[in-house]
Amino acid sequence: MSLTYADWTSRAAALTLRNNLYIDGRFTPAASGQRFETINPATGATLTDVARGGAEDIDRAVASARRAFADGRWSGQTPSARKEVLLKLASLIRDNIPELALLDTLDMGKTITDSSTIDAPGSAHFFQWHAEAIDKLYDEIAPTGGRDVALIRRVPLGVIGAVVPWNFPLDMATWKLAPALAAGNSVVLKPAEQSPLSALRLAELASEAGLPDGVLNVVTGYGEDAGQALGRHRDVDCLVFTGSTAVGKMFQRYAGESNMKQVWLETGGKSPNLVFADADLDAAADMAAFGIFFNQGEVCSANSRLLVHASVKDALIDRLRDRAASVVLGDPLDPATTMGSLVDRAHADRVMGFVARAKGDARLVCGGERVTLMGSDAYVTPTIFDNVQSAHEIAREEVFGPVLAVQSFETDEEAVTIANDSIYGLAASVWTRDLSRALSVSDRLCAGTVSVNTVDALSAMTPFGGMKQSGFGRDLSIHSFDKYSALKTTWIKY
Ligand code: NAD
Repeated sequence: MSLTYADWTSRAAALTLRNNLYIDGRFTPAASGQRFETINPATGATLTDVARGGAEDIDRAVASARRAFADGRWSGQTPSARKEVLLKLASLIRDNIPELALLDTLDMGKTITDSSTIDAPGSAHFFQWHAEAIDKLYDEIAPTGGRDVALIRRVPLGVIGAVVPWNFPLDMATWKLAPALAAGNSVVLKPAEQSPLSALRLAELASEAGLPDGVLNVVTGYGEDAGQALGRHRDVDCLVFTGSTAVGKMFQRYAGESNMKQVWLETGGKSPNLVFADADLDAAADMAAFGIFFNQGEVCSANSRLLVHASVKDALIDRLRDRAASVVLGDPLDPATTMGSLVDRAHADRVMGFVARAKGDARLVCGGERVTLMGSDAYVTPTIFDNVQSAHEIAREEVFGPVLAVQSFETDEEAVTIANDSIYGLAASVWTRDLSRALSVSDRLCAGTVSVNTVDALSAMTPFGGMKQSGFGRDLSIHSFDKYSALKTTWIKY
């Protein structure tokens, strides 16, 4: 289905926005009665006011999740039965792609093209993939020999707390929910305060698919109260988080100071994109531009550092300048727009702060401007800085915006050294026609995923996650189930 700008605008105006907490299978206001506004950053208009959950609401949600887990209404179902419910959810998501896409676009400014062709279909696909996998995982019998049978079984953990960011609201929630639910757990999800809407609709669709009440609860609210209360809750067995490195560290502290719950972190990145002299420069330029400008650069694995061999640097920068010029900044609801607004004004201030400081360090090739459209100044033009040094802030800090830092190198060794000179280790890319170089460089890069002759290679089939301060634990793939289950041994003598 291909919708026009006018179609999207009229659908947006007709949307019904769910704006209360979802606990025990029904919408409910916060116990305190408090609410907060969620704003469309593309226009600055208020979309609705949303229940501001706090510690008391987290208590209610965890209690509901615990009851559901303990009585086996979901945890006690067979993997095949859980699969059927989650497949139905995947199908309901597909039936509601325009609505779910609009919720994310209105809430955080990403283009409707991306939310309707990548995010919402992606959510359906990830639910389907994990649902289909769950009744194909076999357990083990240990090779004890003798008159013993030692069963090693994967069992659900119990109550999972999930705290997610705003850059891919539906998909970041899905990456946690799909394996957690498929494995038989109950979940309390805390979406980001900037983008609470799609999670509430998703929870409602899950109930419609047949997920029993209490198995998935959504508490909207701020990080420091609802997020912290979940992180410190003594009846949460495991906390899975995607967000910034600074907040990830807080969750480790919350766990240590409460019940030592398991904590799995997917955090920040400053991913290097290495372009060698023998690379296909046109392809590298296309994908380097995608790697930093996609989703306004608000991507944890954004290729925000371009490391290019000195002999081809100018040729690559010429191409990149063209790619940046072809970006269409505009109303995210217009299918012609290729870059929308940043998530909010405060984030645009932050990004422009990085740009202003980088101007003192490096050479601005293009962009670096803040633009006002439709009454909102949360738009930033595609920006490229050249002559960046590893010590510069723009090479070290995660900007989380459409800002590329270009550095040059002379040797493979130097390229690897610069690439690894970061506290982060989420993703990296390598461009070369030399297979041997591709492999030897990839081997030495500290990154959870290395993409060769592409960027951001990702699928439900492959694990996604980081090294160093980009976190630990993996989303997606069969390995994602490891976070949501414990290995339990039952030893039988006969
Ligand atoms: P954030 O860390 O500010 O917020 C993430 C979540 O944590 C939100 O739900 C927020 O409410 C909550 N939170 C904030 N402060 C909290 C506190 N004191 N206690 C408990 N919870 C708290 O991150 P963000 O700005 O929403 O998202 C951007 C960050 O997310 C970037 O650093 C990006 O790299 C990261 N990210 C990582 C991945 C990955 O897979 N590695 C994917 C997407 C985004």
